[in-house]
Amino acid sequence: MIAPQATETKHWSFHTDLEKIGWLTIHSPEGSVNVLSREAIMELETLVARFEDLASSDQLVGVVLLSGKESGFIAGADVSEFDAMSDFSVLPEALKRTHALFARIEELKIPVVAGIHGFCLGGGLELALACHYRIAVNDEKTRIGFPEVNLGIFPGFGGTGRSVRQAGPVDAMQIMLTGKMLRAGAARGLNLVDKLVRHRDMLRWEGRKAVLQRRKSQPASLAKRAMAWPLLRDYLANKMRAEVGKKANRVNYPAPYALIELFEQHGHDWQAMIRHEIDAFVPLMGSLTATNLRRVFFLSESLKKQGLKGAKFSRVHVIGAGVMGGDIAAWCAYRGMIVTLQDLDMARIQPALDRAKKLFQKRYKKKREVDAAMLRLTADPQGKGASRADVIIEAVVEKLEVKQSIFKGVEGQLKPGAILATNTSSIELERIAEALQDPARLIGLHFFNPVAQLPLVEVIRSRFNSDEAIGKGASFAQAIGKSPVVVKSAPGFLVNRVLMPYMLGAVERVERGESKELLDAAAVAFGMPMGPIELMDTVGLDVGKSVATELGHAVPENSRFAQLIAEGKLGRKTGEGFYKWEKGKAIKGEAPAHADLAGLGRELVRPLVDMTEIVVSEGVVSSPEMADIGVIMGTGFAPFLGGPMKARADGRA
Ligand code: NAD
Repeated sequence: MIAPQATETKHWSFHTDLEKIGWLTIHSPEGSVNVLSREAIMELETLVARFEDLASSDQLVGVVLLSGKESGFIAGADVSEFDAMSDFSVLPEALKRTHALFARIEELKIPVVAGIHGFCLGGGLELALACHYRIAVNDEKTRIGFPEVNLGIFPGFGGTGRSVRQAGPVDAMQIMLTGKMLRAGAARGLNLVDKLVRHRDMLRWEGRKAVLQRRKSQPASLAKRAMAWPLLRDYLANKMRAEVGKKANRVNYPAPYALIELFEQHGHDWQAMIRHEIDAFVPLMGSLTATNLRRVFFLSESLKKQGLKGAKFSRVHVIGAGVMGGDIAAWCAYRGMIVTLQDLDMARIQPALDRAKKLFQKRYKKKREVDAAMLRLTADPQGKGASRADVIIEAVVEKLEVKQSIFKGVEGQLKPGAILATNTSSIELERIAEALQDPARLIGLHFFNPVAQLPLVEVIRSRFNSDEAIGKGASFAQAIGKSPVVVKSAPGFLVNRVLMPYMLGAVERVERGESKELLDAAAVAFGMPMGPIELMDTVGLDVGKSVATELGHAVPENSRFAQLIAEGKLGRKTGEGFYKWEKGKAIKGEAPAHADLAGLGRELVRPLVDMTEIVVSEGVVSSPEMADIGVIMGTGFAPFLGGPMKARADGRA
C-alpha cells in the first residue's frame, strides 16, 4: 500500500488531506506563468500513476488541480520547446505520450476537478478539458481559449475532440479557428466550464464539494452535437472554410484549413477526432508558417520585457485634442489612467470626448464602466493637469514653432521625473527640444491612427536622451497596453519610412494607368492586410503627401494624387480619394485577371523590404528582429513571413 504523503516535484506539488482529497498544484519553476513543458508532463505521468494506485486502494477520493501562480492556471504548452519539437522524429511520440496521459486522467475512477483563475489557454485548457469537472473564477482576469491558430497550429493535446464534445462543433470550432479568448461567463455559456465562483479563494471549497459529490460535466446537448451529423457537417465545414477564407489563405495559413478537414472527416466522433489529431498536427508544426509565427510571438513577447522596472504611471496630460490627441487621451483613460485633455477651447475638446464615449461603449459591457472611464477623462482647456501628470503627450498641429512654444510653456510646471513626449510624425526631436532648458527630457511617443486598433508605439530617441528616459517611455507604452519599439529620431522613423516608397510606388503605377483594384488585390494576395492604394486612402492623401514630402519624395503638381488633394478628395475621411468610400468601405470595381497575383504583390512590396534593410543598416532600430516586429505591428506586414528582413533572408520577398 502506498502512503498518501506529500510530493514536491519541480512543476507540481501534491498532497492528500484527511478527507482523502488530493490537492495537485502546478507552479512552473521559471517565469510568472505556468506552462506545460515536456518536463512538467513527464512529472505529471508519475503523479497520475500515483493517483491510479491511491484510487485503487481507496486512499484517494478525487483530485483538485489548481495553480500556484497569481497570473493564472496554465498559459499553454511551452512554446520555447516548439522549435525542437518541430523535428518530425520527436513530435509524434511526444504528442502520443501526452494524449495517453490525458486519457488516463479522463479514465480515472475518481473525479478530477480543475479550478481555474486567470489564463487557461491552449494546452492548459486541453488539460482542464481532460478533467471531469471545471470551476472558473468569474472575474475580469479569467481568459479561456485556444490561441494555437495564431502560432500556425491547432490544439494538439486532444483539445480538438474534447472541445467539440463539450461545446458542440459550432462553438468549439469557432473558438479554435479564431483563437478568441473567452471570459469565464462566456466559457460557462459554451459548457467549457461547469461552475463559476466569484473569488480565487472559493476554488478550494468548491473543488472539494465537486469531488465529494462526484460531480461530472455533461457533454454538449444533443441539438448542438447534431451539427456534426454527416450532411450538416459538410455544410458547416464549407461555411467555416468560406469564413476563414475571408481572412487567411490556405497557402500562407494552412492550420485553420487542416482543422476544418479534421472536423469534416471525424467531427461526429470526438474520440476519432482526437485519434487523428496528431497526423494533421505534425506537418503544421514543422511548416515555415508556424516557425515564423512563433518568431513573431517571441519578438512581441520580447517587447514586453523592455522598459524600466517599477515605473508607475497614473496621470496623463494630453495637449491637442485632434484626431490623434483625442484618441490617445481616450485610449489612456480606457486603460485606467486619469487623463486631462487640453486644446485651445472647449469646442475643440468636445468632439474628442464624444468619440471617447463611443470607444468606451464599444469596449465595455457595463454602463458603470463607461461612466467610470468618462470620469477619468477631463477636458482641461487651461492645461491645469500638466503639473500633476506623470506623462505629458503633445499632439498639436505639425508645426515646429507651435510645438516649441508648448514645451517651453510646460517645462517649468513638470513634476520631477515626468515623461515629456511628442507625437510628431516628422519633425526631428532635436529641433523641438531646442526650446527646452533640458533637451534630454523630450522623447517621442509616436502612436498610429486609429490609436485604439494599432498596437505599435514607436518610442523615439533623440541624441540627447538617456537610456532611462527611453526605458520609461517604453514602460508607459506597456502600461497602456501598447507594444513599444525604440527608434532613433530620423525622418519617418521606422514605419512611415518603409511604408512610403511602397505606397508611392503603387500610386505611380496607378498614375501610369494600372488598375488600383489589381494592385490592391495583389498586395493582399502576397499577405498584406490591405493594398497600398486603399491604405493611402485610409491614411489620408494629405497626410500621405506631407510625409512623402518630408521624406524627400516629390509629388508632381500635375499628378492625379496632387489633383485629388486639390479637389479635397482626401480619401476615406472625405468619402472619396482614389476610391469612393461608403460606410467606411472602399467601393471597388472588378480587378482584371492576373496570372500571378501574389508574385505581383511581392513586386509591389519590394521597396518596403529594401527600405527596411536600409533602416536597419543605418541603425535606426537596434536589430533586424526589432525592424521585423515593428513593421509587422505598424503595417500588418505578412506575419507568416516573419517580417520583411526574415522574408528577404528566406528569399520570399
Ligand atoms: P489635428 O489637426 O487633428 O489636431 C491638432 C489639434 O491641436 C487641434 O485640435 C488643434 O486645435 C490643437 N492645437 C493647435 N494648437 C494648439 C495649442 N497651442 N494648444 C493646444 N492645442 C492646440 O492633428 P492630428 O492629426 O491629431 O496630429 C497631431 C500630431 O500627431 C501631429 O504632430 C501629427 O504629425 C501627429 N500624428 C498624426 C497622425 C495622423 O494619422 N493624423 C499619426 C501619428 C502622428
